Parts: sequence; structure tokens; C-alpha cells
Amino acid sequence: MLAMNYRGPQRVRVSHKPMPEIKHPEDAIVRVTRSCICGSDLHLYNGNVPDTRVGMTFGHEFIGIVEEIGSEVHKVKVGDHVLVPFNIACGKCHFCRQGLYGNCHESNTQATAVGGIFGYSHTAGGYDGGQAEFVRVPYANVGPTVIPPDMDPDDAVMLTDVVPTGYQAAEMGGIQPGDTVVVFGAGPVGIMAARCCWLFGAGRVIVLDQYEYRLEFVRNYANCEVYNFKEMDDPVVFIKKITDWMGADVVIDAVGAEAAGSALQTITGRKTLLQAGSATALHWAINSVKKGGIVSIVGVYGPTDNLVPIGNVVNKGLTLRANQASVKRLLPRLIEHVQNGILNPKALITHRIPLEEAADAYRMFSSKLDNCIKPVLIP
Ligand code: NAD
Ligand code: ZN
Repeated sequence: MLAMNYRGPQRVRVSHKPMPEIKHPEDAIVRVTRSCICGSDLHLYNGNVPDTRVGMTFGHEFIGIVEEIGSEVHKVKVGDHVLVPFNIACGKCHFCRQGLYGNCHESNTQATAVGGIFGYSHTAGGYDGGQAEFVRVPYANVGPTVIPPDMDPDDAVMLTDVVPTGYQAAEMGGIQPGDTVVVFGAGPVGIMAARCCWLFGAGRVIVLDQYEYRLEFVRNYANCEVYNFKEMDDPVVFIKKITDWMGADVVIDAVGAEAAGSALQTITGRKTLLQAGSATALHWAINSVKKGGIVSIVGVYGPTDNLVPIGNVVNKGLTLRANQASVKRLLPRLIEHVQNGILNPKALITHRIPLEEAADAYRMFSSKLDNCIKPVLIP
């Protein structure tokens, strides 16, 4: 079969790989029909995730048709159209039983806290992902969910990650009615988070990014205020200024690790930020939330990144909340929100690209070319 194949930092190829096989009675094999590239894949692509091995197939946001099932699979049957949450979860362990499907204890035997994730290095279990014609789906009685027949497949694929992640970012913010929420990052995750903030009663939603086309998109899609941080001397001072010098009630980090690094590069030369050593979205978030506020972090960081200005967290009495999205926990309500039109996630898909052209797709998405918001690979 054809599959995306990681060859090293910023080197991606599509090549033939052996067909995946059922290895456990609860496995399913899914024939992939759509598979997105995610901002999380860029951490892998850029070589910033430990133990990302040459030969791995990425892809944790996919839908497809069940091709084969193991002898103990009863939740789905051959021929079902399914969406598959990005978390690989056993459904039975201490964490899964609490709805913490992103922290499953069985799907990843590594010492790290994260559970298994499709196509996300050996630190997340070493599973091949869905940027391929076929993929092995473990614990098929847990994750895979039959797509409602009236649902657009483009909406379905966004339910595997972006919608739950954006929603959980807003949920973890503990938004109270009337709250001012600032979202750093207008990638797919930040865009979805901004729209979801209204569902929790936000009174004002403000998004910052550096790309005008993304700001323009989120302004319309999420009906929010938008600002370009490249036009500011200091985003923290700016946010304080527009919030009566109080700071935002809730701040969401939808940027993560090396995207923050790229922000650092884009503002090189602006002394105030560099002197303060605070030119990352996470620092901006912690410094621009009001005292006693909540910072909700869905941006992905390296396991041992040491980026939190802890003194400010303590002195301001902040609450930091963070996690991988727990897709399965959120799916029932989010499927409903998509079906009744409250969320319209397919609007974020800007590019449909044949799987064979994955290398070009990675280059485009990584450099934010061609007004790209969300690219989907079609095998
Ligand atoms: P993306 O790369 O498309 O978007 C990131 C955006 O952040 C870009 O538009 C970039 O211009 C902007 N940015 C960079 N530095 C910034 C700064 N200092 N302030 C404001 N904006 C800044 O990525 P995405 O797909 O939207 O994903 C965003 C983050 O969410 C990534 O770190 C990704 O790994 C993470 N993620 C987490 C989960 C989860 O479950 N927690 C799931 C999916 C994605
Ligand atoms: Zn993703």
C-alpha cells in the first residue's frame, strides 16, 4: 500500500509499505478515505519530538471504511464508515474509566504520561498513522465511531481531533458568563477554540496570530476580535490595555512548542520582548491573563520543555490546565453540535491533496503557503 514515510527532519516521502495486519483480536484494519495534516504533525516533521523514527507513517486525523476486523471486535463491522479519535485508548484502565482517553495507561507502555497516538513517534506508542491507504486501529471496540449517514465526511474528519481539541481548550478555560477570553494562535485548533468559547458563555473573544489570512478567517468563522502580534511592540501590554489593565479572564494557548519558536524569530529585533525573554505564546498567555485567571494549554510541547515562568504563576495565583483532547469523551455532544449546525468544521478545510503529494502538502502547511488552514490528504 502507499503510505507517507518520514525520512528525517523536513523530509517526507510517499512509498510502498506492507499492508497492516490484525495483531490482536480487538484490532480493525481501516481503508483510509481522508487524513488531515495537523499542527501536531509539524512538531514531528521538524524533528522536535523525541524518538520519531525514520520509516514512521504519521497521521492521527483520519476517517475510512472498516476493511477487516479481529475476532473480538463487535462495535464496528466490515463496510462501516468510521471516524477514529486520535487517541488510542483501551477504554478499561484507571484513566480511560475517568474519561481521560488521552492518558490511557495500556496503549502506551512508555514512561511518559501520554497515551497512544496514531503516527506520533515511539514516545506515543510507536503506532503507524493514517496518512496511508490502510491503517491498523487497535482497541476497535473503543475509539472508532460510525459516522452518521447524513454527516459530510469533511465534518467527520474534523471530529477526530480539531473539534474536540478546540472545544476542550474552551472547556478547560472554565469560562464564566461574560468572560473575556484571549486565544493565542489562529491555526485550526485556535480557530475552533475561539468559536467554542461562545458555547461556554464568553462575553468577548480575542484572537492573536501573525497571518492576516488566518485572522481574517477566524474573525468571520468565530465572530471574534483579531489582532496581528507582529504589529505590536508587546502583545502582553496590548492585551492589558484593551482589558482595562486587568488582563483577560481566560487565556488559551493554541500554539505550542516550535510554532512559538518561529514567533520568536519573526519578532527578532524587537528588544522589549527579547529582553524579557518572554516571546512565546505560553509566556504571553501567563503574563496577559488577569490575577487569579486560568490558562488553558492545548498547544503541544516537548516532554521536558521548561518554559513556564513559575514565579508569575504563583504571584498571580493562576490556574494552568492542560491536556491532550479526550476525543471519545466529547464525541457525543460534538457530533450533535455539528449535526445541528452550531459548529461547521468543514469550513476550515482549504486543501484536498492526493496522498501521493504528501511531501508538497507538508511543505505548504508548514510554511503556511497558499492561505492554507487545514489540508486533507486523499488516498
Ligand atoms: P498551526 O501550525 O496550523 O497553527 C499554529 C498557529 O500559531 C499559526 O497560525 C502561527 O502563526 C501561530 N503562532 C505562532 N506563534 C504564535 C504566538 N506567539 N502567538 C500567537 N500565535 C502564534 O497548528 P494547529 O493545527 O492549529 O495546532 C496548534 C497547536 O495545537 C499545536 O501545538 C498542536 O500540536 C496542538 N494540538 C494539540 C492537541 C491536543 O490534543 N492538545 C490536538 C491538536 C493539536
Ligand atoms: Zn491533530
